[in-house]
Amino acid sequence: MDKLHHFINGNAVKLSNGRSGPVFNPSSGEQIAEVPYADEDTTNEAIAAAKSAFPEWASTPSVQRARFLFKFLELMNRHKEEIAQIVTREHGKTIPDAIGSITRGLEVVEFACGIPQVLKGEFSENVGTDIDSWSIRQPVGICAGITPFNFPAMVPMWMFPIAIACGNTFVLKPSEKDPSAPLFMANLLKEAGLPDGVFNVINGDAEAVTTILKNPDIGAISFVGSTSIAEKIYTSASANGKRVQALGGAKNHMIVMPDADMDQASDALMGAAFGSAGERCMAVSVAVAVGSAGDEIIKRLSPRVSSLKVGPGNDSQSEMGPLITKQHFEKVKEYIKIGENEGAELLVDGRNIKLQGYENGYFLGGTLFDKVTPSMRIYKEEIFGPVLSVVRAKSFEEASYLVDKHEYGNGAAIFTRDGDAAREFTHRAQAGMIGVNVPIPVPMAFHSFGGWKKSIFGDHSIHGTEGVHFYTKLKTVTSRWPTGIRSGAEYNFPSMK
Ligand code: NAD
Repeated sequence: MDKLHHFINGNAVKLSNGRSGPVFNPSSGEQIAEVPYADEDTTNEAIAAAKSAFPEWASTPSVQRARFLFKFLELMNRHKEEIAQIVTREHGKTIPDAIGSITRGLEVVEFACGIPQVLKGEFSENVGTDIDSWSIRQPVGICAGITPFNFPAMVPMWMFPIAIACGNTFVLKPSEKDPSAPLFMANLLKEAGLPDGVFNVINGDAEAVTTILKNPDIGAISFVGSTSIAEKIYTSASANGKRVQALGGAKNHMIVMPDADMDQASDALMGAAFGSAGERCMAVSVAVAVGSAGDEIIKRLSPRVSSLKVGPGNDSQSEMGPLITKQHFEKVKEYIKIGENEGAELLVDGRNIKLQGYENGYFLGGTLFDKVTPSMRIYKEEIFGPVLSVVRAKSFEEASYLVDKHEYGNGAAIFTRDGDAAREFTHRAQAGMIGVNVPIPVPMAFHSFGGWKKSIFGDHSIHGTEGVHFYTKLKTVTSRWPTGIRSGAEYNFPSMK
């Protein structure tokens, strides 16, 4: 069994005493590693390493900082399959899905490689007579990232490439459920020649996070995880004077209009609801079927959900892997019971599957509910499993009202052939990421990712220009070179003449 470590100041730090926790292979239910949980001292040690590396890193020209990222990108591409195997082993998702998510993370590295262009700033000549003005962006300092289990490689890559490209140093606290991919990436950053201390990994749980929130040397915190923790992190870190972006949970709706291509819409729902066993913040967990779309979509979905190929992520036949932990598996099963008790129509029940040879794995089959209503808990709460709820709506108005009234607002999609409905939806939907005939509208790295309402706390979305703004402080300079002519003291508020 692997004994994992922290990564501080360029070194693997193994501690033999102190708290630790198990890492499981969710396909077999076996413990495959032991991960140390950093205490206050160890966490502060990592922050101190980031602090001492900061001055030199911040004054390294951006073009040189980018070169380390180019090298890291090359190494990541070389080791992509290996990292995908690690992700699958600890998370359970299928290998092609793991590869896809790593690729999406690497797109952020590609964006960060162009940082000299992005950080060029703005210059205005002669804003007043013989006065010039320019704006520059400078690093915030020491930044921390706290990440969830569902994308152990991609979500950290939403953060650290841009943070370090902008001249910050970074402390990552990945999920304790699947910490090996971030440690692998830390080694590749070292191999890429990144100076020690610029990137550090602290493993652990709430104790490490609380230390990060309190430490006065941390300037900015990026968090991705569940809404209840996101809100706590936001409240506590901002009270401690830090910048915070805290992305939370979701309940993404996909509206299917009666004029949609029903085969295309059902393909989209299958992938978006059941890919990665529904453990994606952009998973579609609610299909809102308008009018006759209801029967059409159910007719297509039912047989496909029943015949979903569930199995270990490293089996090329699997379309969907297991859930992350035994506790989460039990929680999702409990939601299915709740849905039944609430009166939703359970058309496909995923609780009955048995996989030969994987009896201790956390496998749940695809589950489909029809006639779900907005008052039900299975509609209101994030389940984060392979459970799709179909809600019937009479009109586009009623369907989009549901999207707008839900407390989460991460992503929302519409499937239609009516440009008018699509445009209206795009304009007024109360969600941060909108898809038109695209079920999972995850923005590319050069745009920014983030929801609205309870899906985000803080002002900046993640990566793209928003990421650059989050990880930099704006400074605007106004400058005049004296010509020898004195204009005397100015007692009125200065305005340019
Ligand atoms: P989580 O909130 O349990 O954990 C996220 C991180 O917070 C982990 O590093 C964990 O160790 C830490 N943490 C957990 N409890 C804590 C506590 N009490 N105090 C301080 N830190 C704590 O989330 P998860 O189960 O790992 O991930 C799934 C959740 O993440 C889902 O709700 C999903 O929607 C959300 N998510 C959101 C996005 C997004 O972009 N909005 C992306 C991915 C996942």
